[in-house]
Amino acid sequence: MISAPITFIEPDLGDIATTGPAHDSYGRRINYLRVSLTDRCNFRCFYCMPAVGMQFAPPPELLSNAELLRLMPILARSGFEKIRLTGGEPTLRRDLVSLVEAMAHTPGITEVSMTTNALRLAELARPLAAAGLKRLNISIDSLDAERFRQITRGGDLARVWAGIEASEQAGLTPLKLNCVVVRGVNDDEVVELARLTIDRPWQMRFIEVMPLVGVADVADGGVVPSAELIERIDQALGIEFVGWFGADPARTYKIPGARGSLGFISSVSDPFCATCNRMRLTADGKLHLCLLRDNEVDLRETLRSGAADDEIEALIRYAVHTKPWGHGLPQGIKPTLRGMSQLGG
Ligand code: SAM
Ligand code: SF4
Repeated sequence: MISAPITFIEPDLGDIATTGPAHDSYGRRINYLRVSLTDRCNFRCFYCMPAVGMQFAPPPELLSNAELLRLMPILARSGFEKIRLTGGEPTLRRDLVSLVEAMAHTPGITEVSMTTNALRLAELARPLAAAGLKRLNISIDSLDAERFRQITRGGDLARVWAGIEASEQAGLTPLKLNCVVVRGVNDDEVVELARLTIDRPWQMRFIEVMPLVGVADVADGGVVPSAELIERIDQALGIEFVGWFGADPARTYKIPGARGSLGFISSVSDPFCATCNRMRLTADGKLHLCLLRDNEVDLRETLRSGAADDEIEALIRYAVHTKPWGHGLPQGIKPTLRGMSQLGG
């Protein structure tokens, strides 16, 4: 596996601020929470879940709608502004539309977006947009229906396209499409996927495959460094660097004259830990502090113990403060606790 060193800065181990937007001990402002609504999925993408043997959390272990909605204003007070719903597959969550509506109307939360496999978007895009959902990231790893079926272990590409169309019609734009690139599986399609952006105002994003629990071996020899993809697409279509914007993990490129753009997420070959602004809330109520580390803080038990809002806010601020600087892939340290379907990407 190719891994660049992660530049380290010294932590500030002083007191944890009790008001104002939360910063971690390295001075990073953490304002973006990826909320996993379920660990279940209607696909079984080979780089995300093992084919058999998945253990899903029993429903009582998941945060209820009431618990999630109680957390929203407390998160907003702690400085979280953007919420991204994910999973597993977030569209499997019952009452998704009303949940989105309540989240989107929380003062201080400026944007609710979602990452999805799009299978249910043909019916859900319009009500979600009406409820206040702002944007969508949609996973699409192949343009070939048979290969798509194999990668997702049963997924129907035609329904994904219908979901993409419905999202555009509902105004859930600009759309971002995510492709996890795995060498020898779909890396021969990157030029065709990039070509989609010539006529459509989408961002096509190429993600380096990461070694998560249950499927860690797909990253052994499977990672195609973004630099190699950029070179290949450049030779075929000619692309230019546009920029690397704030906390967006994607470096943005463009085919000259294209309506859309290209994004490259190099979590393995060139990590972006210095600009990380995010944490994750698992469906079973743990704040997961770094995607590729095991550090967690349990919110669910505190919520269920009868704690006051102030106590919950103090725990959230403590979690932000203790966020690790970066992942340990360059040192060969892989996460051991959870798979990607439990973390939400
Ligand atoms: N089910 C939704 C979907 O697929 O878009 C949301 C959850 S999924 C876990 C979120 C993102 O993680 C997707 O874009 C997916 O492609 C990506 N992902 C899953 N496993 C990955 C891995 N091993 N390495 C890199 N990205 C991965
Ligand atoms: Fe499901 Fe998304 Fe994981 Fe694929 S990547 S198995 S769609 S959670």
